[in-house]
Amino acid sequence: MADDDELFARLKACEGRPATLAGTGKDPVNLPMIRHWCEALGDTNPAYTGPDAVAPPTMLQAWTMTGYPGPATSGPATSGPATSGPATSGPATSTPAASAGPPARTPAYDELLRLLDEAGCTSVVATDCEQEYLRPLRPGDEITFDTVIESVSARKTTRLGTGYFVTTRTRVHAGGELAGTHRFRILKYAPARRQTPAAIRPRPVVSRDNAGFWEGVRRHELLIQRCSGCRAPRFPWLPGCPACGGLDWDTVRASGHGTVHSYVVMHHPPFPAFDPPYAVGLIDLAEGVRIVSNVVGVPYDKVRIGMPVRLEFRSYDDGLVLPVFRGGPS
Ligand code: ZN
Repeated sequence: MADDDELFARLKACEGRPATLAGTGKDPVNLPMIRHWCEALGDTNPAYTGPDAVAPPTMLQAWTMTGYPGPATSGPATSGPATSGPATSGPATSTPAASAGPPARTPAYDELLRLLDEAGCTSVVATDCEQEYLRPLRPGDEITFDTVIESVSARKTTRLGTGYFVTTRTRVHAGGELAGTHRFRILKYAPARRQTPAAIRPRPVVSRDNAGFWEGVRRHELLIQRCSGCRAPRFPWLPGCPACGGLDWDTVRASGHGTVHSYVVMHHPPFPAFDPPYAVGLIDLAEGVRIVSNVVGVPYDKVRIGMPVRLEFRSYDDGLVLPVFRGGPS
């Protein structure tokens, strides 16, 4: 535990040190960003439009964000070792604030993250933020800000894993005047090893209306309903005939001949018990109905519309039987 104590002491030593210094907003407060924000959130408050518009207070952080390309850099120092790099630790007054853009993280913050990474806390999740608003921001306001490492928690174990909460506090200025503070908390943690139970394939929902179908599948028979009145085949199973409304029916056992009417290849998202990529086909059965099922026996990228397929039954985990269709030469 001595190592933990030493780590904690080094983490605590980061408290109060700067995380960013003399940042400047990439853009002054402006109406287009305000409009996009309000549109995205569906906020129709009239205070945010018109000649006297103010920015929604909750946009506070938006004016300090570095955007997709990340912070502006002024040389190799930001990619150098976190513990040195005089350019990043130097006062921001060495570059013209108005054109420098948001600064890179300070070596102090890089050091904090490095300590946590080295301790195995390589994952990060944002947990919460608190904001305080001291004066409204208006279009044209030029934003400057600085961020300090406010606190590092003792080691905590959460459902995600064990790690440390790191809280930073950003003071946002407009025209040299404090406009608000933004406190942001992350958890840097070592992901918990999960004992995932072996994934099993989802079970069909068996109801009174389709129980006969699943009983047939267990016997390796694919049963299609047929209306006793108008003789129309139907699939999936339904209590009544969509053609004539008749409630009486019997079944026809599918011959197993079919063709691919259409298909998709599943890549993402992966589901437990499925192994993407795989092809899911909409199969025209010779009996005149369609069924959705996996196409097997051919590579997923060789499945084609019109391809002949043959029914077969596969057993999955713990006794589940499902109809699938084998493509390619039979
Ligand atoms: Zn009918």
